[in-house]
Amino acid sequence: MLENAQNLLKKYYGYSTFRDGQKKVIQSILEGKDTFAIMPTGAGKSICYQIPALLLPGLTLVISPLISLMKDQVDSLQNNGIPATFINSSLKTSEVQDRLRKAQDGFYKLLYVAPERLESQQFCHILNSLEISLLAVDEAHCVSQWGHDFRPSYRFISTMLNQIPVRPIVSAFTATATEEVKEDVVGLLKLTNPNVYVTGFDRPNLSFAVIKAGNKNDFILNYIEDRTGQSGIIYAATRKEVDRLYENLRGKGYRIGKYHAGLSDNDRKKTQEAFLYDDDNIIVATNAFGMGIDKSNVRYVIHNNIPKNMEAYYQEAGRAGRDGEPSECLLLFAAQDIHVQKFLIEQSVLSPQRKVEQYKKLQAMIDYCHTPRCLRKYILEYFGEKNVFENCGNCSTCNDDSDLSDITIEAQKIFSCVYRMNQRWGTALVAQVLKGSRNKKVLENGFDQLSTHGIMQGYTIKEVRDMINILIAEEYLGLTDGQFPVVRLREKAGAVLKNEEKVFQKIQKRKEKVATDNSLFEILRSLRKEISMREQVPPYIVFQDSSLREMCEYFPIDEASMLTIKGVGEAKLNKYGEEFINVIRNYVEENGLMDRVSASYDNTKNSSKDKTPSHLITLKLYQTNNLLENIARIRDIKLKTVQEHLIQCSCEGLDVNLDVLIPEEHEAFILKVIDEIGGQKLKPIKEALPKEIDYIAIKAVLCKYKNVNSSS
Ligand code: ADP
Ligand code: ZN
Repeated sequence: MLENAQNLLKKYYGYSTFRDGQKKVIQSILEGKDTFAIMPTGAGKSICYQIPALLLPGLTLVISPLISLMKDQVDSLQNNGIPATFINSSLKTSEVQDRLRKAQDGFYKLLYVAPERLESQQFCHILNSLEISLLAVDEAHCVSQWGHDFRPSYRFISTMLNQIPVRPIVSAFTATATEEVKEDVVGLLKLTNPNVYVTGFDRPNLSFAVIKAGNKNDFILNYIEDRTGQSGIIYAATRKEVDRLYENLRGKGYRIGKYHAGLSDNDRKKTQEAFLYDDDNIIVATNAFGMGIDKSNVRYVIHNNIPKNMEAYYQEAGRAGRDGEPSECLLLFAAQDIHVQKFLIEQSVLSPQRKVEQYKKLQAMIDYCHTPRCLRKYILEYFGEKNVFENCGNCSTCNDDSDLSDITIEAQKIFSCVYRMNQRWGTALVAQVLKGSRNKKVLENGFDQLSTHGIMQGYTIKEVRDMINILIAEEYLGLTDGQFPVVRLREKAGAVLKNEEKVFQKIQKRKEKVATDNSLFEILRSLRKEISMREQVPPYIVFQDSSLREMCEYFPIDEASMLTIKGVGEAKLNKYGEEFINVIRNYVEENGLMDRVSASYDNTKNSSKDKTPSHLITLKLYQTNNLLENIARIRDIKLKTVQEHLIQCSCEGLDVNLDVLIPEEHEAFILKVIDEIGGQKLKPIKEALPKEIDYIAIKAVLCKYKNVNSSS
């Protein structure tokens, strides 16, 4: 049965394999069991009921709480060639009737409805005339008062189930896993002996960072400058802060929208659409933004201010990378932001007891910002996961390979300059004076006469500003509030000026930037945009970023190779294949890349499932000091596969130290056995050795000494 499912996955979605969690859930549904799946955002819940929908004889009824998501999902299904539709309050009565009639004629495999529909007797009556094989309750936590978005209409689901003549298989999906919610879902939806599957909370493709930026504006500008064309969300704590950030960034020419509860419905809607359709890359918003946003290619989420608790943080940050592509979640920490959150709790109408709870949750959020441990570990343990690894290899703690350098003298120079400028100016001007600028403002104020003018000539303006920002983050300097923040000395600076305390700066070791050529990606992106406008669907529904990336890697210039691209199923091949193939072929011809095409094409043909030169990706991760376990997690592959990859790399002559795979105490022994019985076949070697020595070690030894021999 699963083999069939796998074929459909390729045919309709263009994916080669199910993720671990998906397989179990689909199997369970296909066995006719009620099934409850708790999986984090981006884990791929939709496919868990959509594939069974294709395999079961009748209709799959999907209860979905958000009108915008419904339309998105249905657009996406239709685009993959799967007959699906939705019914909600956005439609005219005649449209509803039309769709219901077609459903009765067996026209659709999936029908999405809003829960409120179930309150209508008339609608439930019509359901009786449909052959419903599967009920899928999306966002099932909405049935629970304990969840964050209780929807009373969800209670009508069990009423409806009681009324229809043949009870379908019932499946429920959510990302919320607290005990109360779990019990409510099983109880209130009246699931019968359900199989319950909980996959971990981890989102391996997201990296987490807490940054003490000092000057956040500078930080954000720097950050987005490197990411033109990528989609990102910047969350700020208050409307005022959103307005300020928005003005600041827009002034720099970025395509950007803003969103908060103070704007009109119409404005908010426009902003949201522009973001979905990639017209605006960046959105600055309060936490009012996000509910119902299914945009899959959000590459980063920056929190300009600390949010109220970890639940809110993980939900908001989790809007990055729903397509599984590497994405970044950054939290810019500043101690003064905590006051805003405390103020909000104080002002709220909560009971004193609830306030205490909120303070506790806020404290856990603050602790996250200060923890010296792995951030992902902190998050997962906060949400109750057990036996979490020590280091994830993909957060700002785990990746911190910075050296410390002593900047006491520089700090002293900066402090005295701030002091001599009477503590009335912003970072920019202070830096200019230190650098020795003679611009108008400097001269007008006579700052060129100061003894500190030009005493940091040896640095670039940016380096000076970075140092000032560090001194702000470390609370030697302070910034006043308001639109034009002024730098002031703080108490801590005194000890440094008196030579009683030293100041250090972390120097990030320069990561070698892999030079990537994005020109084809940009060409494909604009083609995608063109199609998106033509067909009135968001670009990510045409193709996800990950599909475009694979096209850039493999240059598919015919239909067969196009079909091997992740996310290209038969329907999309028919609809868009030709246009993309033409553009890629042109690009390849113009840039003389034909030899690369045949190389990657051979590769694709040889292994039908996974066409990525996967071992090279593994090697890349390994070279940035990742533990093998972490690479396995980040890439969602088995540890053994990671080990095999390294061996493969080494055998291909790449520089990999295989000693990590060979237990030192066994190496000589393995070599001896190979010496005795030869290295042609693995099995006899394995059998001649003690059980605890595994194949990996043997292969690694074989490869290690083969390379030594051949290079000597
Ligand atoms: P969720 O509802 O759990 O947040 P989605 O169903 O929206 O997640 O899926 C998240 C993303 O993962 C989508 O872009 C989807 O196309 C992709 N996806 C799902 N299953 C697979 C798979 N087996 N292989 C590759 N990508 C997948
Ligand atoms: Zn980590």
